[in-house]
Amino acid sequence: MRYLHGFREGAAATALAELLAEEVDPSREYHLMEFCGGHTHAISRYGVEDLLPANIHLVHGPGCPVCVLALPRLDAAISLARRPNVTLVSYGDMLRVPASRRLSLLKARAAGADVRMAYSALESLEIAAASPDRDVVFFAIGFETTTPATAHLIREAKRLGLANFSVYCNHVVTPAAIQSILDAPEVREWGQVRVDGFIGPSHVSAVIGSQPYEYFAEEYRRPVVIAGFEPLDVMQAIRMLVQQINTGRACVENQFTRGVTREGNRKAQMLVADVFELRQSFAWRGLGELPYSGLRIKSSYREFDAERRFDMAVEPATENAACQCPAIIRGVKKPTDCAIFGTACTPRSPIGSCMVSAEGACAAHYKYRRGLPIAA
Ligand code: SF4
Repeated sequence: MRYLHGFREGAAATALAELLAEEVDPSREYHLMEFCGGHTHAISRYGVEDLLPANIHLVHGPGCPVCVLALPRLDAAISLARRPNVTLVSYGDMLRVPASRRLSLLKARAAGADVRMAYSALESLEIAAASPDRDVVFFAIGFETTTPATAHLIREAKRLGLANFSVYCNHVVTPAAIQSILDAPEVREWGQVRVDGFIGPSHVSAVIGSQPYEYFAEEYRRPVVIAGFEPLDVMQAIRMLVQQINTGRACVENQFTRGVTREGNRKAQMLVADVFELRQSFAWRGLGELPYSGLRIKSSYREFDAERRFDMAVEPATENAACQCPAIIRGVKKPTDCAIFGTACTPRSPIGSCMVSAEGACAAHYKYRRGLPIAA
């Protein structure tokens, strides 16, 4: 904890805020997107926006794993869980995400489906080994942070010869999402969302390295600073972005040097490359179909691919008309723009995915900022 406290020091935060106040150009407005839900959580929890000059605006990005899972793929997971001999295993947050027709995995479990919650992907292997008469499926979601664990899981299943185990793969890749944000009409044509720079994700970057962001910095002239998840990490990254913008630079800088290198974790990358390949297209909640943005299991591990094994159908689904999650995920709206924020939709009774996980913008705002003035 001492290591963490060093990055939460109030006096240091005040000193950084004073430096930022001196360095911002009062004639500019700075619009900075934090891609990752971990940063959204830290910003809300520690009141980082309250320490920033008024002309620095933070825009929440799509980097919350449960928030970006497209509704039809969640519906397909629920249909799978309802099959008589299937046991579906997933992380806790995923169980609470509202699906179509007011369903969720938790409600499916209450109605008799065998849905289990796991803290670690490897627990699903233990369940499969202990239940040879059941078809055990791990419902895999998330960015590059969790993909290596799922790859390891599949290799272990092969090594152990677990014939009753498979994975429903919904892993996505971060660079494709950043590119879609920069190419979105709200950003490029309509000027509805302004993004002058990115606070880059740290855990994802520990795996993929900082190199994949160089393309965005060069091609789109947007600076990227990879930041840790503590409040001083975020504030220092904001200061580094302001310095780049002030001097007309657009490059990738790494604030989180204690965890990220340019090359990333080669061992994890090789593990992922052995098991997964890019899909030509993948649907994201809020962002739509994005080319080469999702992963599927390679044919060399096809026996562990739940989509092949169960011939799963992914049917179109309609979002709840009141929920603004798709617009929030794109950075177009803030949680308080949703008419049912904090009334019909709360963390105890979520209507949309952004209110479920601690990394969701609505949940973070509800927990730490409800009733406080809204940053512009
Ligand atoms: S408050 Fe609830 S319903 Fe509204 S956008 Fe957020 S998650 Fe969706």
